[in-house]
Amino acid sequence: MTIIKQKRLRPIDQDIHLKYRCHSCTLDHWLSIKETQTKGFKIVCDCGEILKVKLIEKIEIVYQKIMKKEILPEPIKSEESPPELEIRETIPIDLLSQCCTILLGYGFDISEGENLIVSAFNEKPTYTCVDLIKQALKKFGEKNG
Ligand SMILES: [Zn+2]
Repeated sequence: MTIIKQKRLRPIDQDIHLKYRCHSCTLDHWLSIKETQTKGFKIVCDCGEILKVKLIEKIEIVYQKIMKKEILPEPIKSEESPPELEIRETIPIDLLSQCCTILLGYGFDISEGENLIVSAFNEKPTYTCVDLIKQALKKFGEKNG
């Protein structure tokens, strides 16, 4: 026995029926596709209502696509990193608290001190407490002077 690779069959004809409902008595009527394509076709319902149908141009068969195993390209990894997070260095927490303590001595409260130090650091990352405080105070002076 030889196995011949056969083409998959496609229909040679169709017999499609569509259901319509009478708007007056709700009785259902089955119409063949030919009837729905016939200009001037009318359903005469048992209730005496004459129903006209919206003409159908065609009904299309859409064959299912055979999915070939595709090797999908790897999603391109974005080279862009969130600009704020990675480019900007973060202030070491020890340094921040050290600076804040000093600023507290000058009458700043904690949140003021933190804001000043963090924004000074963000502008120009410096890892010594003295420089950072100088920067912060300079900034503070510029803003308030
Ligand atoms: Zn009816």
